[in-house]
Amino acid sequence: STMSATKTKKLGLTSKIIIGMFTGIILGLLLRNLFPESDFIKEYITEGVLNVIGTIFISSLKMLVVPLVFVSLVCGTCSLSEPSKVGRLGGKTIAFYLFTTAIALSMAILVAVAVHPGNASMVVEGMQFDAKQAPSLSDVLINLVPTNPLHAMSEGNMLQIIIFAVIFGFAISHIGERGARVAALFNDLNEVIMRVVTLIMQLAPYGVFALMAKLALTLGMETFGSVVKYFFVVLGVLLIHAFVVYPTLLKLFSGLNPFTFIRKIRDVQLFAFSTASSNATLPVTIETAEHRMGVDNKIASFTLPLGATINMDGTAIMQGVATVFIAQVFGIELTITDYAMVVITATLASIGTAGVPGVGLIMLAMVLNQVGLPVEGIALIIGVDRLLDMVRTAVNVTGDTVATVVIAKSEGEFDEALFNDTQAGKVAP
Ligand code: ASP
Repeated sequence: STMSATKTKKLGLTSKIIIGMFTGIILGLLLRNLFPESDFIKEYITEGVLNVIGTIFISSLKMLVVPLVFVSLVCGTCSLSEPSKVGRLGGKTIAFYLFTTAIALSMAILVAVAVHPGNASMVVEGMQFDAKQAPSLSDVLINLVPTNPLHAMSEGNMLQIIIFAVIFGFAISHIGERGARVAALFNDLNEVIMRVVTLIMQLAPYGVFALMAKLALTLGMETFGSVVKYFFVVLGVLLIHAFVVYPTLLKLFSGLNPFTFIRKIRDVQLFAFSTASSNATLPVTIETAEHRMGVDNKIASFTLPLGATINMDGTAIMQGVATVFIAQVFGIELTITDYAMVVITATLASIGTAGVPGVGLIMLAMVLNQVGLPVEGIALIIGVDRLLDMVRTAVNVTGDTVATVVIAKSEGEFDEALFNDTQAGKVAP
C-alpha cells in the first residue's frame, strides 16, 4: 500500500497542472461573463490575488535560472577536460539547432504561401511599432564574452553566463586535486539547486491556475475575427513541428521511441505554455532531461541553456507565417531573396534575444524591417499573439530537448534504460 500511495502521488503533478489549467480558464471565463467590467474583479481578483500568485510562481522559477545554469554548466564542463570535446559538442549542438530552425522557417513560409491567410482588404489603424535593427553577426560575436560576469548574471544574459561557466569549469578540470575539490563543491551545490527545482515544481498547479484565470479574464477576443486564418496557420505549423517533425527527427537520429519522449516532455510543455518563457521553464527542462529522459548533466547543462536562448523554432514559425501574412495584407510580393533574408534575419535575431514572453514580436519587427515590410503590420496580429506565444514557447522547449536527447545519445552520455522507464524521475514531494 505504501507503493500505491507513492504511485498516486507520483502520478499527481501533471494531472494537477492540467486540472489547475482548466479550472483557471473556467473560473476566469465565468467571472468575466458574470461580472463584465467589474472594477472589484479587476482590482482584487485579476490584478490582485491572481496576479500575485501567478507572478510569484514565475518569479520563483526565474529565481533559479541563473544559479542553476551557472552551477550546472560548471559541473558539466569540469568533466569535459579536453578542449576538442567542448568544441565538438558546441559545434554539433549549434548545427542541430540551426538545422531544426531552418526546417521550421521553411515549413512556415511554404504553408503560409500555400494557404494565403492574408487578404488586402484588412485595415491597419493606429499602433506604431519601433523596429530595432537586427543584431549584426559581429555584434552577436562580440556580445558573447562578458566584460563582467557578475553583471552578466544580474542581467541574466544567458550566452555570457554560458561562456564564463565553460571557461571556469574547464579551468577547474586542469588544476588537479584542488580542482577536484572545487568540482565536488559544485556538484553538491547542483544537487541543492535541483532539489529546490523539484520543490518549486510543486507550486505549479496553483501558479498555472492563477495564470490561466488571469488570462481568461483579460484576453481580448474581439481582435480574433480578422486574423483567424493567420492564427490557425501558425497553430497548425506549430503542432506539425512538435508532433510530426520532432518525433521523426528523434527516431531518425537516435532511434528512440518518440511516444516515450512525447509522454515525458509533457510537464515541460505545460510549464512553457503557462509561463510563455523558455527561460523561466529552464529549471524544469533541465530536471526533466536529466532525471526523466536520462541525459547526462554534461550535455543537458550545456545544450539546454544554449537552446533556451538561441533555438526558438516555434518563434521562427510565427516569424515565417507573419512575414508572409503581412506581405499579403499589404499586397507586397516577396522574392526568393526576401525569403532568404527572412530566414537569415530571423535566425540571427533569435540568437541575440532571450527566451522571454513576447520577444517573438520584437524579433518580427526586426525581420519586417530587414525585408522592407511595414512594421505596423504587427498591429494586426498582436491581438492573438499572447496565445500563440504560449504555444510557440512549448514548441521552443520541445525543440531544445529533442536536440539534447539526440546529442546526448550520439555522445554516449545517455541512459537509455532510464529513458525507457516510464516511472523514472517523476516529481514527487
Ligand atoms: N516566449 C518565447 C520563449 O520564451 C519567445 C517568443 O516567441 O516570444 O521561448
